[in-house]
Amino acid sequence: GPFNAEDWFIGSVDQGTTSSRFIIFNRNADIVASHQIEFENHYPESGWHEHDPEDLVDSVQDCMEEAVKQFTDQGYSIDQIKAIGITNQRETILCWDKHTGKPLCNAVVWPDTRTKDIVRELKLREGAEKIPELCGLPLSTYPSSVKLMWLLRNHELVQKAYEESRLAIGTVDTWLVYRLNGGAERNVHVTDTTNASRTQFMNLRTRKYDDELLDFFGVDPTKVALPKIVTSSCPKLYGSIASGSLAGVKIAGCLGDQSSALVGQCGFQPGQAKNTYGTGCFLLYNVGHEPVISKYGLLSTVAYDFGHKGEATYALEGSIAVGGSGVKFLLHNLGFERDSKRITELAESVPDNGGVYFVTAFSGLFAPYWVDDAKGTLFGITQHTKKGHIARATLEATCFQTRAILDAMEKDSGHKLGDLAVDGGMSNSDLTMQTQADLSGIRVERPAMRETTALGAAIAAGLAIRGCWNSLEEVETLMKTKEGRKTFLPEMEKKKVVRMYNKWEHAVEMSRGWVI
Ligand code: ADP
Repeated sequence: GPFNAEDWFIGSVDQGTTSSRFIIFNRNADIVASHQIEFENHYPESGWHEHDPEDLVDSVQDCMEEAVKQFTDQGYSIDQIKAIGITNQRETILCWDKHTGKPLCNAVVWPDTRTKDIVRELKLREGAEKIPELCGLPLSTYPSSVKLMWLLRNHELVQKAYEESRLAIGTVDTWLVYRLNGGAERNVHVTDTTNASRTQFMNLRTRKYDDELLDFFGVDPTKVALPKIVTSSCPKLYGSIASGSLAGVKIAGCLGDQSSALVGQCGFQPGQAKNTYGTGCFLLYNVGHEPVISKYGLLSTVAYDFGHKGEATYALEGSIAVGGSGVKFLLHNLGFERDSKRITELAESVPDNGGVYFVTAFSGLFAPYWVDDAKGTLFGITQHTKKGHIARATLEATCFQTRAILDAMEKDSGHKLGDLAVDGGMSNSDLTMQTQADLSGIRVERPAMRETTALGAAIAAGLAIRGCWNSLEEVETLMKTKEGRKTFLPEMEKKKVVRMYNKWEHAVEMSRGWVI
């Protein structure tokens, strides 16, 4: 629109598993500039998954510069950007030297399963059964806790720094805030409650580090600098950008990516749910101000914590390790097609899965199954099987797991879910969204603006700054006016759904036995 000096903008860093983004939103929550950079994922051994910590910072900073250039090219001025929010891949752990600020090892990324043996050992340890009750997460390879344990046992530089009390740790939010603030010099070492709730070190109710948890995982807080846990939206504690064209702009919001997507979808009421289909796939269900500890394989987590009346909002979460990365597997490992969109087209080339079921358990199976040693398993291959069937089975794998999670959420909460708000790269696939509606028998609602993850962090930042958005209600009203939603209604015959789901469950059982 025409230049108006009164206009204000919020920047949002979205640091994901395969790429980083920086998006600038205007006061109507529309995107005015954005840039995205993919960086390298490292798989040094089977089951290992790493990022270079410098790549995370560089890609974010390069995205900022590029987006800001687009922004100023439109005639806006940088001082109209009132604050920056950060959202990030969760659980991934980083270690650095607190004096020099230098990384001590690569980041161990959330789907990494090198910790399988440690998890097996911990499950037998006294007090193991109390862990989910305290922090909301079961013992598995997924949280940061066991990743840090592995590094403390196996990585010389990390061990040494720990022994010499020089070790600083953090999840990706912490690392980015630290580095964007200039690193060791200003030493801004914080994390928000939603990210902290994925480490397994935070007590879910007090939202503070818990001695019992730290002790269980063998972490001595006198030997390691843990980031201070703060609310997801605050104008002071996250510091400001130290260098580059955004130097001086405050960082005022911070949310783990899945929490951020829930906020971006305006899932502010208990009973509302969203599913983000990215590299992995993550379903969050708002349960209100009291955490619900799942009996059916879900995680309990902080949804967001805006410091309002000292209350946080909690969620039940179903995490699926392999979502879009299953599509990427077909592209990169099997050479099926050149881009993700073509996988959907390939799947559309056949009328159904032709009896093929693909349990994409490349990192074991997460919710609601939690089988660390399951392996990816493809069933039902015959002479009739074509690439299209395998493509379809890959898309369906995510939908079946989502259905299993929805069933668990219904049992835990005692309520039937009304509809499911969706976003993320794979939600661009109409076929996948229709399949989701069919297999779970609920309405799937897709907003026009699918950068909901980035939007959530922008909302968190905007709420912290005077003169920007004033309340969640204001944001919700704003989002309701947006056009271009698409609704997918269940259409498949019930009998067929039951038959398919039974086959899927059978396939899941078969995928368990691969490591003896
Ligand atoms: P992340 O934030 O985890 O990096 P995104 O939300 O950008 O992920 O989603 C990227 C994922 O979505 C990729 O794994 C990609 O294969 C998948 N994807 C994107 N578009 C489509 C499509 N049209 N059909 C199927 N999968 C898709």
